[in-house]
Amino acid sequence: MCVKCYKCFRPKKSCYCKYITEIPTKCKVIFLMHPKEAYKQKTGTGRLACLSLVDSEIIIGIDFTHNKRLNDLLSDSQYFPIVLYPDENALTAKSETLKVASENKRILVIVVDATWLIAKKMMKLSKNLQALQKISFLPSAGYQSKFTFKRQPARDYLSTIESCYYLLNEFKQNSLEDSGTSFEPLMDIFQKMVEFQLESQKERERQGQPSRYQNIEAQVKKNEKQQNFQAALENLD
Ligand SMILES: [Zn+2]
Repeated sequence: MCVKCYKCFRPKKSCYCKYITEIPTKCKVIFLMHPKEAYKQKTGTGRLACLSLVDSEIIIGIDFTHNKRLNDLLSDSQYFPIVLYPDENALTAKSETLKVASENKRILVIVVDATWLIAKKMMKLSKNLQALQKISFLPSAGYQSKFTFKRQPARDYLSTIESCYYLLNEFKQNSLEDSGTSFEPLMDIFQKMVEFQLESQKERERQGQPSRYQNIEAQVKKNEKQQNFQAALENLD
C-alpha cells in the first residue's frame, strides 16, 4: 500500500502539489463531487482545480437538496449563485444579468464534477440546483478537451479543470475577473498531469506490463454500454 498525499490524493512520490500555483479569484467556486469519485480519482481534475483556486471548495454528495453547506451558501445574500450546466436559458459571461449581479454580489460558480451521466443524475435529484440559474460557455467557443486518456461519450466533454479555465477566462474577458489574473496555472497543472500519465504508461510498456490504457478503454466500453442502457431506461419515462 503506497503512502498518499492527503491534499491531491496522489501517491506521495508523484504528488502534484509542488506544481500547484494558487490563484485568487473574484468569484467563489464550488465543486460538487459524487462520493464514489471523491476519494479515488486517479485522473480527477476537480481536486487539482480546487487546490489551485484559493476561494473554492469541494462538497461531496449525490442529492444536494438538503445539503447544509450548499444551502447555507445559496441563502447567503453576498452571493449570486449559478450552475455551470447546459440549459436553453443559460446565461453566458456576456449576459447583462451577470454583469449587473456582479456589481454588488460575488458570483458563486457551482461546478458538478462528474461524468455527464452522473452529473445529470445529480442535477435530477437536487431540487435546489434545478431552481438555480445556469451558465454555459459562449456559444462560439467550441472548446476541445486536451485530455486524451479519459474518453467520454460526448465529444465536446471537457475535464473539470479545463471547464474552470475556460469559464474564468471568459469572465476575465468580460470584466467579471481582474484583468491581471492569469488562469494559465490551471492548464499548466493539467498538462503536467497528462504528461505524467503518458510517462507512467510508457514505463509500464517498457516493463512489459499490461497497458493501463487498454484497461481504461475496456472499462470505458463497459461503461458506455451501461450508460446507453441507463439512458434508454431514463428515456422511457
Ligand atoms: Zn499532493
